[in-house]
Amino acid sequence: EETKSLNFIEQIIEEDLKGNYTKEVLKFRFPPEPNGYLHIGHASSINLNFGLGKRYNAPVNLRFDDTNPAKEEQEYVDAIKKDVEWLGFTWSKECYASDYFQQLYDWAIALIKNGDAYVDSQTSEEIAAQKGTPTKPGEESPFRNRSVEENLALFEAMKNGETNEGEHVLRAKIDMTAGNMLMRDPIMYRTLHKPHHRTGNTWKIYPMYDWAHGESDFIEQISHSFCTLEFLPHRELYNWFLKKIEKPGDFLPKQREFARRNFSHTVVSKRKLAKLVQEGIVTGWDDPRMPTISGLRRRGYTPASIRNFATSIGIAKRENVVDLSHLEFCVREDLNKIAPRVMGVIDPLKIVITNYEEEEEWLTAENNPEDEHAGSRQVPFSKELYIEREDFKEEANRKFFRLKLGKEVRLKNAYIIKAESVIKDAEGNILEVHCTYDKDTKSGSGTEASQRKVKGTLHWVSIKHAIPAEIRLYDRLFSVESPDADKEKDYLEFINPNSLEVITGYVEPSLQEAKVLDKFQFQRIGYFCIDKDTSAKKLVFNKTVGLRDSWGK
Ligand code: ATP
Ligand code: MG
Ligand code: MG
Repeated sequence: EETKSLNFIEQIIEEDLKGNYTKEVLKFRFPPEPNGYLHIGHASSINLNFGLGKRYNAPVNLRFDDTNPAKEEQEYVDAIKKDVEWLGFTWSKECYASDYFQQLYDWAIALIKNGDAYVDSQTSEEIAAQKGTPTKPGEESPFRNRSVEENLALFEAMKNGETNEGEHVLRAKIDMTAGNMLMRDPIMYRTLHKPHHRTGNTWKIYPMYDWAHGESDFIEQISHSFCTLEFLPHRELYNWFLKKIEKPGDFLPKQREFARRNFSHTVVSKRKLAKLVQEGIVTGWDDPRMPTISGLRRRGYTPASIRNFATSIGIAKRENVVDLSHLEFCVREDLNKIAPRVMGVIDPLKIVITNYEEEEEWLTAENNPEDEHAGSRQVPFSKELYIEREDFKEEANRKFFRLKLGKEVRLKNAYIIKAESVIKDAEGNILEVHCTYDKDTKSGSGTEASQRKVKGTLHWVSIKHAIPAEIRLYDRLFSVESPDADKEKDYLEFINPNSLEVITGYVEPSLQEAKVLDKFQFQRIGYFCIDKDTSAKKLVFNKTVGLRDSWGK
């Protein structure tokens, strides 16, 4: 019964536990390359690996796959750690492939001595030309049968930085006729005269992914190394390298694959996201339009919403496109439970309550009907208010349950008002709506009049108390569903030029004290979050998501 609800990755582990694995050997890792910020695709992998850690009470390492100094930076390491922590996961050890450079080098020497690796002195073009095709075998390099002594001497020279970039590479000596092209003498090391963000100038040679990854898994004694499907053909090489270093009694990790996730209306490749940043199409990796964890955080997403999303889309064996509106559903669901309700007007229309004779009064408003502990606050009411422009029409049919001339609505937490007349400018634009209020209808007053039912309830703010705020409204970053699906076209052609709209809105004064990342429901509009650009002078909000799914409507 139980196994039915397990995903295929969990089934693999359960099978292993029925075989010769004990629970104690289970160990996982999340292995990002620090060449960019984490994105929503990584959240799937994080949720998978750390989720398995929780399920089996097993350690999970955070391993930086930092073998390419040309692309990697400390800034990315820091951002990745911050994002994994923010998502709510705790790693067992913080590891770096670069910490294993000496061990990997020692093993490479052993492979050379064993006749399993050689230094090739051809150009990369020559090597590529000999690779063959899936149906045509490759050709052996003229340097393939160098003596062990010559190989050791050349590899030593590479290591000491005595050779140029591109002059020599170290290759595994496997089989140039192998059906799996990756087994045709893959490159293990290349020379790079570039400082590394952690090892500085110590190394002049850097290991390739295939050589570094499996051996790093072995060093950390990872039991199951999960990666995305494009690494399936690499599995044979992963195992070949492990066999070469295996000693009797060793426990070897196993690689298994799951499908990379794609998401509608965005791209999730660090390289492509980096270009958006470099070209200034977005303001940074944490631009609220970015599908990065940091962008989603700034936009107002919660860790729980991202975890729930990753869990609910699950793990797949085949690639497909996940609709981002499902992520929006998840954040709406979470924010509905936790976000305090406030009133904010984003497209103001002035109304004047002509028979209101007080200076002002403070009314009680419930903070969150979904949370009985959320309490209440006071909101100011006065003679001049803003309501949403779209909430008033001079005339409208019976289905328009908002304000129209001669009809009544309730102002949330306040009174029932009736629209009496409009004041217009010379062009006929409505400047003000004059209303009257029924002072016996105050919300919560318990009077018979206050129980009176009217169809519509509107949000509002008192003009003299309201705080003007910058409000950033977002649309999708790309105007097509799969911007990088068409190999003939550049994904940048599909950038939506209207993905950001900045407006001024007016919010109730309780928001004066709000802090960066605080989240609110602007009643009847959507969820909003305080942006980091907020200052003592100006509140800045990001719209996280509307109250309802409105795409395509
Ligand atoms: P990118 O193209 O974004 O750089 P990557 O796979 O090279 O992707 P890594 O930093 O190596 O990025 O990824 C760390 C882990 O996250 C890997 O195990 C990788 O398989 C996984 N991962 C990355 N992107 C996705 C995705 N879109 N869906 C699921 N898992 C992903
Ligand atoms: Mg990678
Ligand atoms: Mg990558």
